[in-house]
Amino acid sequence: MAESATLAVGAKAAAARAKGHDVIAFAMGEPDFDTPENIKRVAIAALEKGMTKYAPTPGDKAAREVIAAKLSKENGVETTFEQVTVTVGAKHAIYMALQAIVEPGRGDEVLLPTPAWVSYKPLIELAGAKCVEVAGSVANGFRVTPEDLARAITPRTVGIMWNSPSNPCGTAYPADEIRALCEVLAAHDRIAVISDEIYEKLIYPEVAPGLSHFSPGSHAALAARTITINGMSKSYAMTGWRIGYMAAPKAMAKELIKLQGQMTNSIPSFFYPAIVEALTNSAVGVEAMRVKFAARAALIKRELDQIPGFVTVTPNAAFYAFPEISAHFGKTSPAGTRITSAQSFADALLDEAHVAVVPGEDFGACARGHIRFSFACSDETILKGIARVREWVASLR
Ligand code: PLP
Repeated sequence: MAESATLAVGAKAAAARAKGHDVIAFAMGEPDFDTPENIKRVAIAALEKGMTKYAPTPGDKAAREVIAAKLSKENGVETTFEQVTVTVGAKHAIYMALQAIVEPGRGDEVLLPTPAWVSYKPLIELAGAKCVEVAGSVANGFRVTPEDLARAITPRTVGIMWNSPSNPCGTAYPADEIRALCEVLAAHDRIAVISDEIYEKLIYPEVAPGLSHFSPGSHAALAARTITINGMSKSYAMTGWRIGYMAAPKAMAKELIKLQGQMTNSIPSFFYPAIVEALTNSAVGVEAMRVKFAARAALIKRELDQIPGFVTVTPNAAFYAFPEISAHFGKTSPAGTRITSAQSFADALLDEAHVAVVPGEDFGACARGHIRFSFACSDETILKGIARVREWVASLR
């Protein structure tokens, strides 16, 4: 299976830094902020109190209850604590959900609206299904339409891997468009929905007035076949803690808990009070981070638009900008690299201008002409880094 393209670029950037280069990294998808202090304090107190033993496989009941209440109240996904499994990051929840819905060897297909996060396709294939890409276009802000979705469904379709707000697009679907896609899925009762909502709290109506989140699990016809996934990494700046969660229909939740029991068991027990603290007492800190990301979304769009040949859909969610750069294919860099793909563009940009971005290839066939910038970094870094990219692009011949 392929190595994660984002982690690979992170490693290349670290290697260039180790050689003494001043690398500006737009590669990693993690907030530059530290975990809010109140959340850290609660975990430290729990550790000191001796919460150091195995916890139940799906997690501590109090934390699962708070997650169930959050999903029911904020997302309209009616959930009881028995349906919730706390996982090792959202990533492991996605892995397990795909294992649960796919039967290897049966010819199953899983739909993936693209551009899409690099791990979905390998995880769909690892589960034993064919990944069917449903391509979004730059002209439509990367969003797929109900007609696109309907055309991709076959008798072998067992699921859809859904992600709004999206990595790498940096965009969220308007709620009414998600509802329209849900209507298409509602007519096919064998299709399970895996909804990765990890960027739910990072939506910028400042940039796209009226934009709001919508959970497919709140759609009446889909509630009994949707696995809703979320986690602490992005909204609470807790990437290194490795805390995710999923809520599944009751019968499926039982199977998912069995799988987790054989794979990882529970996450560290002293993290559970931190989950409760994050979900019940951190709204102010989360909003402060969101407001900063919203301003950066506007800033990076403005800067990228100054680069000839870059076409950038306005980021309105998450912390990614995903410009089309294929106008530069066929050119040669100052050091003599021929730019023939997003990968060669990104490699040369890192080697010659010391700016790390992720090439589009692994985000789907329709993303081959794109590169991804993460703007989870300071305004100063954005200004300095994009100026460097602009200068380097101007030197291509
Ligand atoms: N889902 C998406 C869309 C992501 O971008 C990421 C991380 O980059 C994850 C899931 C993984 O999140 P976690 O840190 O909770 O495993």
